[in-house]
Amino acid sequence: MRYDIAIIGTGPAGLSAAINATIRNKKVILFGNEDLSQKLIKAPSIDNYLGFYEISGTDLKDKFKKHIEEMNIEITTNKVNNIYAMGDYFALMSGDNMYEANSVILATGVEYGKPIKGEEEYLGKGVGYCATCDAPLYRDKKVAIIGYNHEAEEDANFLSEIASKTYFIPMHKKEVNLNDSVEIIKDYPVEISGDILVNKLKLRNNEIDVDGVFVMKDSASPKALVPGIETEGVHIKVNLNMETNIPGCYACGDCVGKPYQYLKAAGQGQVAALNAVAYLDKKKLENRK
Ligand code: FAD
Repeated sequence: MRYDIAIIGTGPAGLSAAINATIRNKKVILFGNEDLSQKLIKAPSIDNYLGFYEISGTDLKDKFKKHIEEMNIEITTNKVNNIYAMGDYFALMSGDNMYEANSVILATGVEYGKPIKGEEEYLGKGVGYCATCDAPLYRDKKVAIIGYNHEAEEDANFLSEIASKTYFIPMHKKEVNLNDSVEIIKDYPVEISGDILVNKLKLRNNEIDVDGVFVMKDSASPKALVPGIETEGVHIKVNLNMETNIPGCYACGDCVGKPYQYLKAAGQGQVAALNAVAYLDKKKLENRK
């Protein structure tokens, strides 16, 4: 099945894109998570969302959820690992699954922290963002998972069945649910290093020999997600129509730049969706000629 629009991200930008594209009768697939956005549920009180003065992040999340449920918009709770532009459509890889869409809207948010030293240099040379995709490379080898979220624990458990040794470095204070064979190290990653390939992870108080390091954040770098996409620093480069340099690929919300705000994200989600709809309608007309 090929979708009209694949939307990546369930923060205000992705949800706004999804409702607008649905209103315009497009077949949409929305990737994200059940809690919608950590940046939404963590806000104690929001004073600047029009119509909802002093609302808590969790209450606003419930309102967003009710809105999409009433419009029968479902969330596909899979993380998208790679998106490839195939000419007249996009292939989206998520673990072992592949999805196809005629256009894509990136609403992936942004990681506020800087990458770990060596993370970008060794990407694809021992650093990865998808355990399911890269696990076979680490059979009987040593791996470390730097886990920013709960999905990272599932990945660590999966890797522990394949790798000879699995370390887990939790980047949050919540309880973790891991197989007995996974060694938890409560420390802070400082540098990923090696020769041609990764061989060491330096922590603040320790150093471990590893063949691979998985950095499991909510959002990965746009360049790792969409090969060939143009960026400016950590942000995806877009014009006022939210178009990226790849025809049919749009981006909105925090991932395209500051200010990092809910209303700005939702507004850009709408602009991205309406322009994606115009792009699809134009292509349809061209194909009829
Ligand atoms: P996000 O909300 O970050 O959502 C992105 C979503 O995409 C996430 O759910 C993520 O899991 C998902 N995702 C990313 N990559 C993938 C992938 N590959 N596959 C599948 N899903 C993926 N702003 C205000 O205007 N007012 C406030 O009062 C305010 N308070 C804040 C308080 C806190 C504590 C924080 C952290 C932020 C606050 N902000 C506030 C900023 C606001 O949270 C962000 O600007 C807003 O959430 C951005 O929305 P977004 O849709 O662009 O991205």
